[in-house]
Amino acid sequence: MAHQDCINCKTTYGIDEVVYFCKKCGDILEIKFDPNELAENAKAIEWKTIPLSVWRYRPFMPIHESTRLVTLGEGGTGLHRSERLGAELGIQNLYIKNEGENPTGSFKDRGMTVGVTKAVELGARHVICASTGNTSASLAAYAARAGIRCTVLIPSGKIAYGKLSQAMIHGAKVLQVRGNFDEALEFVFKLSEKHRDIYLLNSINPFRVEGQKSLGYEICDQLNYEAPDRIIIPVGNAGNISAVWKGLTEFYQLGLIKKLPKMTGIQAQGSAPIAQAIQTDSDQIIPVQNPETIATAIRIGAPVSWKKAINAIRESHGTAEIVTDDEILDAQKTLARIEGIFVEPASASSIAGLKKLIKKGVVANDEKVVCITTGHGLKDPDTAIKQSDEPIEVDADIGAIEAALGLKKAILAR
Ligand SMILES: *Cc1c(COP(=O)(O)O)cnc(C)c1O
Ligand SMILES: [Zn+2]
Repeated sequence: MAHQDCINCKTTYGIDEVVYFCKKCGDILEIKFDPNELAENAKAIEWKTIPLSVWRYRPFMPIHESTRLVTLGEGGTGLHRSERLGAELGIQNLYIKNEGENPTGSFKDRGMTVGVTKAVELGARHVICASTGNTSASLAAYAARAGIRCTVLIPSGKIAYGKLSQAMIHGAKVLQVRGNFDEALEFVFKLSEKHRDIYLLNSINPFRVEGQKSLGYEICDQLNYEAPDRIIIPVGNAGNISAVWKGLTEFYQLGLIKKLPKMTGIQAQGSAPIAQAIQTDSDQIIPVQNPETIATAIRIGAPVSWKKAINAIRESHGTAEIVTDDEILDAQKTLARIEGIFVEPASASSIAGLKKLIKKGVVANDEKVVCITTGHGLKDPDTAIKQSDEPIEVDADIGAIEAALGLKKAILAR
């Protein structure tokens, strides 16, 4: 079976051990498969019969064979060839991998189907996270599906109900702690340490990363096992870019793809410690104290998985770019208007980043590029409404409607 390794000191822990941080050095863990084991497991995959989905790759997931899956049909999202947007940006081969098509509207579901399945396998009856965003929306749905308790801790301050409404309707217990986000996070760590039956499903959880690596597999699958030249991803805590890279390297080791794409991470100005480290060639990040951006899903000052992300970007000869809120909003609108794909602001940062990198000459116009859009636009309707035209009120009269539409008055027959 696979094992959990510390990314720093390489201490190994069993796959059925409940451990969140390395007991020796405190760093985060990652799931490692023995390459031979992975190759052996690959033979068990029924490539022809099981449709595109996270569980198509079940033999690559660290879940026991007899375990019952907690699933809502996640993954299998569209990879949309985007000719019109490509032409607008000046590149020929552009694809949008639209993760908003997942059950709760973001890629987090790929991680949570595996994370909650693991939680139930380990005997947990209660899962917990600190999040106001897509993590809590997804965790609450999968906990409901599994029939276990879900607790969500959020910091004090104004509540944005878009995503939290999902956690609430799925029956999660939402506690607003009088404190900031880091304090809420401290409490979920403490609770999961103190009460061993409460399972922690925050960003550090390595089983979530395993589910999310299927995003890398799927892109290769959808492109007929020809990896693209570049994959562009919005980066917050950096779990996703690390996960996609993990999936790609596993496929590469198995010989399923012959080359690896350049991993390209996009962060928002005011919240870009990883992009800054890449651009200044540093091996450390400088955490941002009060991160600010309209793209709330990537408003993260101290990304948990920054080491993994920097490694993925450097190893793949990729890069990182920083985009402003205006560039993000512009990209969101363009994508919605010329491709029919409505994404939340954080997701549009991948398009904004691509635009910038083409202008700078970093991305060549013959590259095959996949932009990942991470979450659905309805997650944040207020931002969309603000940048669109309001409905125009007209009299209940055909002439008034025609006038409003700039149509010629209809010439009635007879
Ligand atoms: C979580 C999330 C991100 C950031 O992903 P990380 O793994 O934290 O880097 C980006 N966009 C959306 C919509 C998200 O929900
Ligand atoms: Zn360690």
